[in-house]
Amino acid sequence: MIKTERLLQDFIELVGIDSVSGQERAVCDALKARLGVIGLTASEDNAGGTMPEATGNILAHLEGSLPGPRVLFCAHMDTVEPGRGIRPVINDDGTITSDGETILGADDKAGIAAVLECLRTIIDERIPHSGITVAFTIREETGLVGAKSLDPFPRANYGFVLDATGPPGEIVVRAPSQDKITATVHGRAAHAGVNPEAGINAIYVAARAIAAMSLGRIDPETTANIGIITGGKAVNIVPDTVYLEGEVRSLKKAKREEHTALLCGIIEKTAREAGTRADICSTLLYDGYELGENNPVVQLAVTAARRCGLTPLLTQSGGGSDANILNTRGIPTVNLAVGMENVHTTSERIKVADLVSLTRLLVEITRSAGRF
Ligand code: ZN
Ligand code: CA
Repeated sequence: MIKTERLLQDFIELVGIDSVSGQERAVCDALKARLGVIGLTASEDNAGGTMPEATGNILAHLEGSLPGPRVLFCAHMDTVEPGRGIRPVINDDGTITSDGETILGADDKAGIAAVLECLRTIIDERIPHSGITVAFTIREETGLVGAKSLDPFPRANYGFVLDATGPPGEIVVRAPSQDKITATVHGRAAHAGVNPEAGINAIYVAARAIAAMSLGRIDPETTANIGIITGGKAVNIVPDTVYLEGEVRSLKKAKREEHTALLCGIIEKTAREAGTRADICSTLLYDGYELGENNPVVQLAVTAARRCGLTPLLTQSGGGSDANILNTRGIPTVNLAVGMENVHTTSERIKVADLVSLTRLLVEITRSAGRF
């Protein structure tokens, strides 16, 4: 049986340990200690660099007695801001929130707590299984940095990332790829009052380019955004430089490529027509994934959800997660809904009941994999 008190206590303790992206040292140490007590050997890689305070990803293994597929459970240790000094509150309505000053950090410590309680349950009840690998990653929120650098890369047959919003039972089987676009629009500086004729206004050029772009939701599968613009030094100087940063995401690779090329082309053409130029760069941040309903990892998640009384629902996501990296690197991986709500805001919350349901689902996935 899942021990709700133990699960809850773990979750409360973990969210109380600050771990904003890039500063996961304390929670990493706490988790390695917990895994050790549970009976797993946890190792830490060098994904965070080699400085003394740098934190790596945690990898841990539990060997099974059955010959079936090995499952991988993956959750991230870092949180967004404001994520320091979190004071969790258990409310009368069965939810857990922060005190309103910070995020809660259920994203993704709910996933971590569920994995720990799943391991304890499997061991306490001697549930036969075919092997579990656990990965707790760093810096997911700043671009899946930890997952990209997992070393050694875990070996597993089926991956389950615990990092989706929505009620437990929802299974993300499709997620977009993402491009990052950066551009420096060059103009020519001149005195704004004395000889503006000699200048080329980089702000004006950048503004014209952005006004010509289609941004926001492009189609049901594709989105685009310009999220950063900086430039200009003083009101009496025709500005010579503007820096832009944006992104394009799509569930379809071809659409992402096409829209990225379109936006870059608009910046290039607008600058040329203004008699100047722009340095434009686009990079693929991560690939997308799409798993069919007959894919074994999807079937395993669906079967396990039904077995523990949840309603399985296959969904798609507009965002990337560590599942994108695991899929790209050859481990078929779904992203499971954790129950967290209003993530990345100070009204983030999770129901205690959902935390318990998620843990049950992980236990059932492990048990079902052993019979797969
Ligand atoms: Zn997350
Ligand atoms: Ca997040």
